[in-house]
Amino acid sequence: MYYPEPISKLIDSFMKLPGIGPKTAVRLAFFVLNMKEEVVLDFAKALVNAKRNLTYCSSCGHITDKDPCYICEDDKRDRTTICVVQDPKDVIAMEKTKEYNGLYHVLHGAISPMEGIGPEDIKIAELLKRLQDDTIQEVILATNPNIEGEATAMYISRLIKPTGVKITRIAHGLPVGGDLEYADEVTLSKALEGRREL
Ligand SMILES: [Zn+2]
Repeated sequence: MYYPEPISKLIDSFMKLPGIGPKTAVRLAFFVLNMKEEVVLDFAKALVNAKRNLTYCSSCGHITDKDPCYICEDDKRDRTTICVVQDPKDVIAMEKTKEYNGLYHVLHGAISPMEGIGPEDIKIAELLKRLQDDTIQEVILATNPNIEGEATAMYISRLIKPTGVKITRIAHGLPVGGDLEYADEVTLSKALEGRREL
């Protein structure tokens, strides 16, 4: 090996993170070597604490440090609406808009025959179970606007329709600042579909 073992171990650890290739891993490892020890210790503690103290909400599947999560616990929220998303990060994104005040359901993935992910591999059964309780009146499908997300939304809507619960799909617009010509057809057709009168 070119590097002393502690450094090569650190490089290997960084390479386990998504989007980090060998070059970036080396750069980060050397950056850490130049950091103050207390900063490195805080960083290491934050990693371990996040892993140890976070779990998934047993009701909605969002990431949380207490179960049920703060959204499910909040009695000021509209308990008649569930917004279905793929990932806890999508909950954060929706919350940042401050436009939505209902509950969530995190699927933890999307149906993808290409990757061998079927409906039973994501939290669809858990969603249906939540609908058995008559309080839910609307399910908003906010899965990603790509092939997997669309397939998942279609699948769920077919399952829910017979229950009589209202199902809506968010309109996917074009990214603000994006050029129409660079938008892929799924985005563009969805943007057209979700058009509203001015
Ligand atoms: Zn929750």
